[in-house]
Amino acid sequence: MDGLVIKNTGSWYVVHADNGEDVNCKIKGNFRLKGIRTTNPVAVGDRVTISVNPDGNAFITAIQPRKNYIIRRASNLSKESHIIAANLDCAFLVVTLAHPVTSTTFIDRFLATAEAYRVPAVLLINKVDLLTDDEDKEYCEAVASLYRTIGYDVLEISALTGEGMTELRERLKDKISLFSGNSGVGKSTIINALLPDLDLRTGSISDMHDTGMHTTTFSEMFPLPEGGWIIDTPGIKGFGTIDFDKHEIAHFFPEIFKISADCKYGNCTHTHEPGCAVLKALDDHYISQSRYASYLSILDDTNPDKYRKPF
Ligand code: GDP
Ligand code: ZN
Repeated sequence: MDGLVIKNTGSWYVVHADNGEDVNCKIKGNFRLKGIRTTNPVAVGDRVTISVNPDGNAFITAIQPRKNYIIRRASNLSKESHIIAANLDCAFLVVTLAHPVTSTTFIDRFLATAEAYRVPAVLLINKVDLLTDDEDKEYCEAVASLYRTIGYDVLEISALTGEGMTELRERLKDKISLFSGNSGVGKSTIINALLPDLDLRTGSISDMHDTGMHTTTFSEMFPLPEGGWIIDTPGIKGFGTIDFDKHEIAHFFPEIFKISADCKYGNCTHTHEPGCAVLKALDDHYISQSRYASYLSILDDTNPDKYRKPF
């Protein structure tokens, strides 16, 4: 029998079998991902095959290939990674342009990370009910239009008034989705509205086990009434971070990557090189200053001197 892994406690799994039953399973056999060392072979979102023994014990016996997965390092010292979730259809970044203001650097880092993971990202601008004066509204339109032009889906919503929530529900239907965002932007409020039967209390869906044990291994998906699942990754702020390779960063800024094909040098970092098409596009306002600043800030992280401490 096949099914979907919907809960990982670190020692056992809950598999939502295709017959609708939820089955507690252990792992049988030795699953390893090629090229990466992981602490957990199976993650929420995995499609698996299970077999139930005559004594009632159930085992995961096979994992189907993943279309994507998000990981984080098991610990600072370890080379092993922990798979947080697999087969994500969508990562929603909840942002607010007032109370609090989410920075474009934060947005761009999230989007670049999503690109690197090959997870489609959607920008959810929440609390639009607070944007009452013209200046705030114009800023919101500018942000929405910037990201739409690049090709991202952007929804303007208010969890408080319900504006945009129908469109959000449409995006979520029959999909596996993850919500991310700084604290205070309204993640819990949104998720409580989407999952009315679940008592998640206020305080972020991802924060509730912050101080508890098993924060690195526990994750769970909750079923949406309309079909589909929302991933909860306790204690993990969104995606975590990726160690980008200097020459790869532009790949994860779609509009910069497209233009970089015209740079004179193949290994152009788009910072100072002659014949750089990206710098020209920046001058000509085809690439936004804020996006380019975010690109530079990620590039700066890869500078080894940054972490060299003075004696
Ligand atoms: P989280 O930390 O991201 O989970 O944010 P919460 O869901 O706890 O929300 C933080 C605060 O923002 C709470 O006081 C919510 O009532 C409020 N809030 C959430 N969504 C909206 C919204 O759409 N409009 C307004 N005005 N307030 C909201
Ligand atoms: Zn260049």
